Amino acid sequence: MNSISALTYDVKEDGWETSTGFIKREVTMPALDEKANPKDVLAVLLEIQYAGVCGTDRGIWNRQVFKELIHQTLERENKSTRILGHEFVGRVVEAGSQVENLYGIRVGDNVSGDSHVTCGRCFQCRVGEEEVCQDQAILGISTDGIFSKYAKISAKNLWQVDFSRIRPEICAMLDPFGNAVHSCSKVELRGKRVAVLGCGPIGMFTVLLARAFGAVKIVAVDILEANLNTAKELGAHEVVLLRKRDDIEADPGLLQRIRELTYDKGVDVTFEMAGPNASVNNALAITRGGGEVVLFGLKDGDFVIPEFKDAIVKGLTLYGVIGRQIFQTWQTSQRMLSDKTNGIQEKVWKHILKEGRDTIIPLDSYSKELFEQKMAEHAKILIKF
Ligand SMILES: [Zn+2]
Ligand SMILES: [Zn+2]
Repeated sequence: MNSISALTYDVKEDGWETSTGFIKREVTMPALDEKANPKDVLAVLLEIQYAGVCGTDRGIWNRQVFKELIHQTLERENKSTRILGHEFVGRVVEAGSQVENLYGIRVGDNVSGDSHVTCGRCFQCRVGEEEVCQDQAILGISTDGIFSKYAKISAKNLWQVDFSRIRPEICAMLDPFGNAVHSCSKVELRGKRVAVLGCGPIGMFTVLLARAFGAVKIVAVDILEANLNTAKELGAHEVVLLRKRDDIEADPGLLQRIRELTYDKGVDVTFEMAGPNASVNNALAITRGGGEVVLFGLKDGDFVIPEFKDAIVKGLTLYGVIGRQIFQTWQTSQRMLSDKTNGIQEKVWKHILKEGRDTIIPLDSYSKELFEQKMAEHAKILIKF
């Protein structure tokens, strides 16, 4: 049987407590077989070109997130190896017999796609809220992902891309870019003062988009100076470097700085893109009375919110954002990146991907040490297949 190299985690051979990183191993070459798997009529075989390494992947690298989901789903599938990865661009090399009929996707098409493979049957899917599907699989977590040269994927969540409009390396980032588009679409940003807490790639995209959507003052906040330098290059008007603390309460220094920057009012909109308990309390504290807080950062465990009633007394509106709206978010993402006049695509390429210098690593040269080093040096890295 044909085999291909993939970046994986294996519950038996690696073990959650006894390993870190992605483990490169040979896996079976995926194939469509409609007789053996009737669902393959709606699947495609993709040749992956680039894959993005996301914050979630870094969490799995360090064995900090999704332990249960990975283990439970592997047990259900009666196997031990999970192929990781969920941000991709690739080419369709084989398509199930119903794929073109239902989705208009053909062999030879270049595609990216949503990492949340939704069921299409639950209440939320049926009413067009697939981002909160009650029975979804997530690529690279609860079903095999795309950190391999070839991957078999359900065609349902694929999005056709045009490299003359968006370069392939950036098409590989449509999934996280879409997280920022989805977050920004929750609120009106014209004329608003905005804070972005957490300037990893998705926070960086949020800075770019908030500016394009008309925010007049964007304050970028992070604990890493390098991220803040990038946020500035992307259009943040002000940056605030937070010191790393253990307390969960809002940071009084940040609150004071935000008051100075907003004539004592607080920001109109806060995007919480980091996840820690303290960051959520920062978001609630720095948002003005009547303002809006978009909660995107994810962290396991219980949170403590001192004086929670303040959020009510202040009349805050809170939004939880997960994934992307399929496909409204994708449509908006494509437009924002294709429009050459807004400079967004160019800035992503130049300042986040650093024009591919040192940020794009061929799978063939994968080693744990090399990846660890590149992930420490750059907010975003891609794997080239
Ligand atoms: Zn991701
Ligand atoms: Zn569903």
